[in-house]
Amino acid sequence: MSVHPIDLNFMGLAGSICCYMVPHSGGVALVECGPGSTLPALEKGLAAHGFAIEDVTDVLLSHIHLDHAGASGWLARQGARIHVHPAGASHMLDPEKLLNSATRIYGEAMHTLWGDFLPVPEDQLFTVQDGSTININELSFLALEVPGHANHHHVYFLSDGPDRVCFSGDIGGVRLQGAHHIRLPMPPPEFHLELWRASLMRIQAQPITHIAPTHFGLFNDPQWHLAAVWRALDEVETWIDQIMPQDPPIEELVARFLDWTTQRSQVEGLDQSLVEAYEAANPSPMSAYGIQRYWRKHRHPA
Ligand SMILES: [Zn+2]
Repeated sequence: MSVHPIDLNFMGLAGSICCYMVPHSGGVALVECGPGSTLPALEKGLAAHGFAIEDVTDVLLSHIHLDHAGASGWLARQGARIHVHPAGASHMLDPEKLLNSATRIYGEAMHTLWGDFLPVPEDQLFTVQDGSTININELSFLALEVPGHANHHHVYFLSDGPDRVCFSGDIGGVRLQGAHHIRLPMPPPEFHLELWRASLMRIQAQPITHIAPTHFGLFNDPQWHLAAVWRALDEVETWIDQIMPQDPPIEELVARFLDWTTQRSQVEGLDQSLVEAYEAANPSPMSAYGIQRYWRKHRHPA
């Protein structure tokens, strides 16, 4: 297997955010690059395989959320080409709007969490169309558009000898190492249950041997994994149908969602350290906000 996860040790936590390194004859390609705050860990991870930042020729972004894409402007300045969904491109050229809305969420903690998000120089930015192939020397990545978590989201497929890897970004859910447990990151403003299901069907139509979510690492049981994402979508829909018609105030909604998430973890037998790790990789309040937005916009417009 020539796909190597690099642990970006986000906020000192192992196994929370990764990016993937794929060597080729002219250097290395990365799928995701993590936020600006984890560049030292990226550099260390590359060095462990005998590479340096200057060897990064290309960065393929699943989507532009800070934990996936924040370091790309800096990497572009070191020479990397940045590949992104067309709907994310303007934010990469000028991240101000993206950063303003993130600052409303994270406030004072913004810089500690995410570091610098520099704009990508225009001649380093390449937009990726649905169904297109990105060729990097002998590597060939197929891109498919998969909304549901974010509208500007792609997954990438790479054949690697007898294996075929799906880099699933956030649409394949969050699954931490050592766990048979999937959680869905459902942030505002674009979480959309029906689009998510349609995206999952597109992924399931592809033959794959491995699934590689950004949170976290390679898994060799993609059938189990994708079926568990379906189950998680069904469960959250049942919960939404029970809770949202009452349209509880956001504080109550956050508390109830957190309770439900905790219950789900207990049923699935997670130990306390994994519960905390999942919460760090995919904070429940963010999904409660996303569910409220989805409900008000798509299911019960006022
Ligand atoms: Zn995301």
